[in-house]
Amino acid sequence: MARPKFVAGNWKMYTDLAGAKSLAAAVAKEVGSSSKVQVAVCPPAPWLTAVADAVKGSAVVVGAQNCHFEKEGAFTGELAPQMVLGAGCKYVLIGHSERRHGLGETDDLLNKKARAALAAGLHVIFCIGELLAERESNHTESVLDRQISFGLADVPPEQMANLVIAYEPVWAIGTGKVATPEQAQAAHAFVRGKIVEMFGEKVASELLIQYGGSVKPDNAVTILHQPDVDGALVGGASLKADSFLAIVKAA
Ligand code: PGA
Repeated sequence: MARPKFVAGNWKMYTDLAGAKSLAAAVAKEVGSSSKVQVAVCPPAPWLTAVADAVKGSAVVVGAQNCHFEKEGAFTGELAPQMVLGAGCKYVLIGHSERRHGLGETDDLLNKKARAALAAGLHVIFCIGELLAERESNHTESVLDRQISFGLADVPPEQMANLVIAYEPVWAIGTGKVATPEQAQAAHAFVRGKIVEMFGEKVASELLIQYGGSVKPDNAVTILHQPDVDGALVGGASLKADSFLAIVKAA
């Protein structure tokens, strides 16, 4: 069976409360109560409940941008997976490059987070991707291999149905430099092959792999129609309802 397309908006540390509510409402209104393309929005943590309210009744679901791996405890500033669920989220982003490289999150930490989020019943968008220097020195595949083997180690195979991988080459994030459709397809095919090795053919063939990195309405169609590209994780272009919805339409 063909895999559905899945487009998610990562709002990062942008929007105020009023802006988040109106952006969510505009997306929900256009997507409506059922949609061929799966759609998620990932607002900043303080707006999660308000955004979950704003999309209620529509097919749009909400994701958090991060969570901790512990259920509760003395972890100032952190969000437990159960809290993310309680705020009305279906998804959580784990391993975004701005957290891997900006905040030093390691493969081991991200593995703990992914397993805890899945065990709590969240769906995970697990982000991976190489730096420019790694691509230029022909290390793209070894980096992806490491991020997947360590990041998804010991994930129970039955929980893989609740996990999406987002391939986001770091050099393409927020730079306007999008990967070519061929570069995206080659990386996605490599990722799917790695999932075959770890979890078998069935899990791999059903796995959704999003591309992320400067996806815009004008480049979405060619990228989103590569055989192993199952959707997009959109940053900048998800902050305006029109451009985000145009990408959803392109899927
Ligand atoms: P961008 O961000 O679309 O602004 O490049 C993508 C992301 O960081 O997920």
